[in-house]
Amino acid sequence: MFEKIIGQNKAKKILSEQIKNNKIPHAYIFMGEEGTGKMLTAIEFAKILNCTINDYTKMDAGPCNHCLSCEHIDKGSFPDLHMINFEKQDEIAEKESEKGKTKLGIKLIREYMQPKVYIKATDGKWKFFIIEPAEKMTIEAFNCLLKTLEEPPDNTIIILIAKHKETIPVTILSRSQTVFFQPLHMEEISKYLQDKHFLSQENADKIAELADGSIEKAEQLMLNTQNEYSTLWTELTSKKLALADILMKSKLVAKDRDSAIEAVSIISENAIKFFRQNPGKYAGIIERLSESKKFLEQNANPTNVLDNLFIYINSKTK
Ligand SMILES: [Zn+2]
Repeated sequence: MFEKIIGQNKAKKILSEQIKNNKIPHAYIFMGEEGTGKMLTAIEFAKILNCTINDYTKMDAGPCNHCLSCEHIDKGSFPDLHMINFEKQDEIAEKESEKGKTKLGIKLIREYMQPKVYIKATDGKWKFFIIEPAEKMTIEAFNCLLKTLEEPPDNTIIILIAKHKETIPVTILSRSQTVFFQPLHMEEISKYLQDKHFLSQENADKIAELADGSIEKAEQLMLNTQNEYSTLWTELTSKKLALADILMKSKLVAKDRDSAIEAVSIISENAIKFFRQNPGKYAGIIERLSESKKFLEQNANPTNVLDNLFIYINSKTK
């Protein structure tokens, strides 16, 4: 169960046991930093309990992922999975002044969520309410929610997603099961980047090291560096550049050895795509790229290596 979720073995074990034994609390708090898989786990949870093919009490399998319930949940159109968040608050606002608030107010809980809690599930066997970010609820909203937590209807699960315990009232904490989500290990993030985004191990490790245990942050960092260096590849290969411009670009990238190596790896990933379409034109560039990387690793001066490399790439493609 929960194979899709990276890491978080402890959280997965707690939830899997409760699901298999059919002893599922009515309210949870999924607590942990951003990008640790709290929302994904909540959605997967809804799929496991509502899957019409796999019986969660009989087998240790996750959801089937192709029945109508699974598909609707994936698409965000399942009638018994409700997101209680800022978007929903804006959606139900009757006046412009009720939009764009920085807190989740009582109206969202009392007028939108609670009526749905007390009507029978339309489609699924289980109704889910995911409140996020729970720490942004007002005290009135928490107090209102408390009534539901005190007398929860059957087959209803409320999941509060929050970063810190301090922000949730004790009365709510005592009526919910807290499941902690730890920052991910560097290796877990690196493996994810390699598997999902096809990064080289070297680049994936570097990004993972800076990601503070968050997949979200890792993906952001990945996009930033990829954009920066992919743009460089496009610039170098799309028109003849003046020597001064090439040298300026090389100087910017060569600020230190690590970023020079990273730039060469990402440019290589781009070059390989072009090489596959036109081997004759790009073979020399691929060779120069791997040679340059070797020089950089052997402590050659980054500016010199990149000057020569960039001049070569620009002369060969235009
Ligand atoms: Zn299914």
